[in-house]
Amino acid sequence: MIKKYDCIIIGAGAAGLMCAYNVGLKGKKVLLIDHSPKLAEKIRISGGGRCNFTNINTKASSYLSNNPHFCISALSRYTPNHFCELLDLHNIAYHEKTLGQLFCDNSATDIINLLDYLCTSVGVIRKMSVSINQIDKSATGFSVHSTEGITDSEALVIATGGLAMPQVGASAFGYNIAKQFGINVIKPEPALVPLALDPNDLLKFNDLSGISFESIVSTNDISFAESTLLTHRGLSGPAILQISSYWNSGNKININMLPSQNIVELIRQHKTSTKLLSTFLHQFLTQRLSDSMCKIIGINKQICQLSNKEIAAIATFIHELSLKPTGTLGYKKAEITKGGVDTTMLSSKTMESNSVSGLYFIGEVVDVTGWLGGYNFQWAWASAYACGASI
Ligand SMILES: Cc1cc2nc3c(=O)[nH]c(=O)nc-3n(C[C@H](O)[C@H](O)[C@H](O)COP(=O)(O)OP(=O)(O)OC[C@H]3O[C@@H](n4cnc5c(N)ncnc54)[C@H](O)[C@@H]3O)c2cc1C
Repeated sequence: MIKKYDCIIIGAGAAGLMCAYNVGLKGKKVLLIDHSPKLAEKIRISGGGRCNFTNINTKASSYLSNNPHFCISALSRYTPNHFCELLDLHNIAYHEKTLGQLFCDNSATDIINLLDYLCTSVGVIRKMSVSINQIDKSATGFSVHSTEGITDSEALVIATGGLAMPQVGASAFGYNIAKQFGINVIKPEPALVPLALDPNDLLKFNDLSGISFESIVSTNDISFAESTLLTHRGLSGPAILQISSYWNSGNKININMLPSQNIVELIRQHKTSTKLLSTFLHQFLTQRLSDSMCKIIGINKQICQLSNKEIAAIATFIHELSLKPTGTLGYKKAEITKGGVDTTMLSSKTMESNSVSGLYFIGEVVDVTGWLGGYNFQWAWASAYACGASI
């Protein structure tokens, strides 16, 4: 027997749950399906288990897209305040960690439980571990063929996310459905992802592996002031994850390892000092970083003995370290997928396809990619709300 719903939502992650609640709230019959046995795994593992669920500084310029204005409408209709109000109403405590990033005080599970409860409260039918075999368009809507049998609906919402972290259920499903219906997909690529260095650089920076420091990292005329972490495979830490979204293969990145000071000025001010360079640098950097830097530059003499050429070499290394990553660490280590369903083929008000009536795409599957720091969940909530409000 074919079961009929007003709306079928595929993908019970952040966007799918938020959308299901908003459609259910209007008294509509909603089916929410997911191939994973576990609900919203990405929320659970996000923000180190505390889910950085939004950023109070959310603005369109914190998102990458081939069509940068697309996200404005949805983001302005469902703001970080709206999500905070929802948490306040249900007594979920949260705090700002840094740079406007809001995290749960307790656990990311609080948010999963809340969204699950909200969906149940408005009668959403949720089915997990469902494999979808085929989707057909009918005169009145869509037929979804799955391990649950055939289900029909007027509206079909694709909320299956991107390719980041296949180990927790990510798949190309959303892109394939878009292509099936003639909707263009902007090439997906891993983003918010560590960068790999070549073996020579790794050998050179071997002593620095595991060290984290405040930095300004730049490429392609964009820079981020956050910390950088050197790892045994290359570069990581918030500044690197941010810049990875703007980095293209072959590009160099520049790292200022002491952004709050000017090392040339500091050395000039202390030009008669008999301190060793490593001891001098230790005033501004950790001991391990100062010692390793001196070893890599090959200079560790008294400050008063440094030549202008040596001072210039020290400054270049500290303020303008230029590295050419060999690639990213790929989807297994990425927090998000850049690219996705081409937004020029969707309505920015409703997320509905311009060419296939009743077909919607929300969340990460869409070509809207946020910075690190809660921006991606905010896009999931906002795009889901815009879609849910219009069904
Ligand atoms: C480790 C990690 C940490 C992160 N931390 C943060 C953070 O703190 N703050 C932030 O803003 N963002 C964070 N992100 C990004 C954030 O998780 C995503 O932006 C967000 O989950 C996207 O929501 P979504 O609903 O579009 O997709 P998802 O949350 O990925 O949900 C998609 C759902 O679709 C299901 N699905 C996939 N394929 C199929 C299929 N073929 N059939 C049926 N179902 C399918 C999946 O099982 C999943 O449940 C993090 C990501 C990762 C990987």
